[in-house]
Amino acid sequence: MIRWLMPFVLLAVAGCTEAEPLPKVQRPPLGEVQPVAPGFRPPPSLPQIVLEPSLPGLRRLVYLSNGYLEAAHGLLLVPRNQAQPEKLLTLAKQLVERAFAARESLGVVDVSLYRAEDYAGFGGPLPLFTASVPRSRLGEFLRLPPEALTAYDHLWLNPGEPRPPLRRPSRLAERLPAFEGSPEELQEQQKLQTEQQRRGPLPASGLYYHGPPGSNKVALTFDDAVHPLFAPLLLDALRRAGVKATFFLIGRNAEAYPYFVRDLVQEGHELANHTYHHVRLVGLPEEVVRDELLRTNQLIERLTGQSVRFFRPPGGRYDAQVLRVARGLGLVTAFWTDDPGDFNNPGSEVIISRTLRFLRRGGIVLLHDNAQETLPVLGELASRARARGLLLTTLSDQAGW
Ligand SMILES: [Zn+2]
Repeated sequence: MIRWLMPFVLLAVAGCTEAEPLPKVQRPPLGEVQPVAPGFRPPPSLPQIVLEPSLPGLRRLVYLSNGYLEAAHGLLLVPRNQAQPEKLLTLAKQLVERAFAARESLGVVDVSLYRAEDYAGFGGPLPLFTASVPRSRLGEFLRLPPEALTAYDHLWLNPGEPRPPLRRPSRLAERLPAFEGSPEELQEQQKLQTEQQRRGPLPASGLYYHGPPGSNKVALTFDDAVHPLFAPLLLDALRRAGVKATFFLIGRNAEAYPYFVRDLVQEGHELANHTYHHVRLVGLPEEVVRDELLRTNQLIERLTGQSVRFFRPPGGRYDAQVLRVARGLGLVTAFWTDDPGDFNNPGSEVIISRTLRFLRRGGIVLLHDNAQETLPVLGELASRARARGLLLTTLSDQAGW
């Protein structure tokens, strides 16, 4: 009971409270079941747009609003014999046009076309074709000729490279940073963490537990980016809130939706590495860990021309090998001080009250790019932070490196 009431009590007095003391790096209990993100509690189900008559192969067409902009995402399964680029384009045009016609309030329609025979959701093969179409560009998209697909910058056609997933990814939810190693190694990590809380991070340590404690800058970070439907809404919400953030990208998602990655850069956000398949890295052979990180670094560099500075292990699970590999690739492994658990879909009110509870100078807020209850609170979070003299920004900006 008390636990349920706490967020609301804290919400009432937020603004005049000191941030709570930070929890220490934990050692995960043995045999712990990995949580699935987002949501121990399932997220509120997204409303569907019903097309009459339906489009063959349409798996779902859902929509979501951030309070200002409404976006839809259509998922279409295409039989193998229709997987040629010109047919995919025709199907995508039909889906986009009919979605806009069915719902006048839509501002943007995203589409993902998968091969029907091997569609397996997040862990399966990449889509064949994706696009994101704002209503203002509908005409341009509908006129797009199949021989000039690249003329539309928010479209991706799978080049068909033989790149099967390495393994089924685990969808880990981030909680406390969890170090797996000997008691001595864990103690060493806790010491480093405490030291950074007092003195701030040093680039040479390869670890980022806490920003400069005297800084009024709070790093805002989003894990698991990028997702269709959510990306346009999140970009819009952050623009309205006037804040920049660091996005930890899952490589496979960045590969299938490269235009959202470029949008992030164009809006001044920072890109960081969250592995290619979102796997739990502890226990994997060293070369697999390196491949997960290197492949994502190379992808981001290829898409944006920017090199990557920060890395965050999925689920916050790490050990000495993970740190060593990351450091070897020039990456700083970054954690967080403030995790409201938005992946658990606790409700927008709880997300904001929990975030404010730990909000502090030099702090690092952990959110997820596909948590629908996070979208509506970003504006309020930015203004509540400002009221405390704190600015939400990127990790690099906070570090001042
Ligand atoms: Zn993650």
